[in-house]
Amino acid sequence: MTALSYLTETVGGPRSRPTLVAVSPTCSLRPQVPLSKLTSFRVGGRAEWYVAPRSLEDLQLTLQRARTEGWPVTVLGAGSNLLVSDRGLPGLAISTRYLRYTHIDGDTGRITAAAGEPLPRLAWQAAEAGASGFEWAVGIPGTVGGAVVMNAGAHRSSTADVLREARVINSDGSMEVLVPEDLDYQYRTSNLQGGDRLVVEATFDLVPGGDRHALKAATQDHLERRHRTQPYDRPSCGSVFRNPGPQAAGWLIERTGLKGYRIGGAMVAERHANFILNCGNATASDIFRLIAHVRESVHDRWSLWLEPEVRVLGEFGGV
Ligand SMILES: Cc1cc2nc3c(=O)[nH]c(=O)nc-3n(C[C@H](O)[C@H](O)[C@H](O)COP(=O)(O)OP(=O)(O)OC[C@H]3O[C@@H](n4cnc5c(N)ncnc54)[C@H](O)[C@@H]3O)c2cc1C
Repeated sequence: MTALSYLTETVGGPRSRPTLVAVSPTCSLRPQVPLSKLTSFRVGGRAEWYVAPRSLEDLQLTLQRARTEGWPVTVLGAGSNLLVSDRGLPGLAISTRYLRYTHIDGDTGRITAAAGEPLPRLAWQAAEAGASGFEWAVGIPGTVGGAVVMNAGAHRSSTADVLREARVINSDGSMEVLVPEDLDYQYRTSNLQGGDRLVVEATFDLVPGGDRHALKAATQDHLERRHRTQPYDRPSCGSVFRNPGPQAAGWLIERTGLKGYRIGGAMVAERHANFILNCGNATASDIFRLIAHVRESVHDRWSLWLEPEVRVLGEFGGV
């Protein structure tokens, strides 16, 4: 065995059916991994290949491997805004879930966090450090990378308001630092969506010198308000549609009489009409068809097309 043979060897030896493909001594690709366990909707088929690197080096080796193989790459954060097809995803799904660290400078209010850091954890850490500006993020079950890409936000604040810069890996493997002006930020969108750049780290400028107790109380208040008004008890992706303004999407859907409407195991939530819930046995196709039904019904009633906020991945043709 040569020093680099781990790059091509499959665990279990060449004669057995490949189970893992090592890209480094600390990182392996797994075949046919069910994505339903990795998305908050709890639906979706398998990734042809899946990996969750634990370091930037392993992430870069993984991307290099995908380029060599010609695999399409899908990046998964916490999977809290994804609808993955029941037919699964071709190529390589890369999860950032183990890319985690946070540096907080309480004196300046500057926070740098790895892509896989959970947003709620960051909100609590910021409050603990006396840095204000992230209290709104506590109820958003995504990662730092997902928030930068989606321009996640709540209570009239958003990621774009606090982002200083994001470090990304480009499709050719080069690293780049981007500032908000580079990202075409608008309501719940950025030009990183659907692109081939991967966010590895983000730095945020918060306001230092806040009272920790008051910030923690405000953060708790945000969390409780959300749990009162939104259905957190069943799998969902949060709000399915962007608010078209001046009326909220939820208001339009509710006034179209769709609360409680079901297709298969998918249902428009009673508590918040812009949520679609997996009632236990939904398929991605059920959810997809319900999204289409809601769009058509709202269009019939209000003459406008709601635009999905949820990222729809994979094939849904013929559904
Ligand atoms: C109960 C619930 C409540 C929610 N409430 C809110 C809310 O109040 N406000 C709000 O804005 N959202 C909300 N969401 C939606 C979701 O949490 C956010 O959109 C979040 O930012 C998604 O982050 P994620 O890490 O889960 O990304 P994912 O869902 O995994 O991915 C979303 C998109 O970002 C891409 N992506 C993820 N990480 C990276 C990366 N590191 N580099 C490049 N691309 C990447 C993915 O490929 C995909 O296109 C809610 C969801 C749920 C389930």
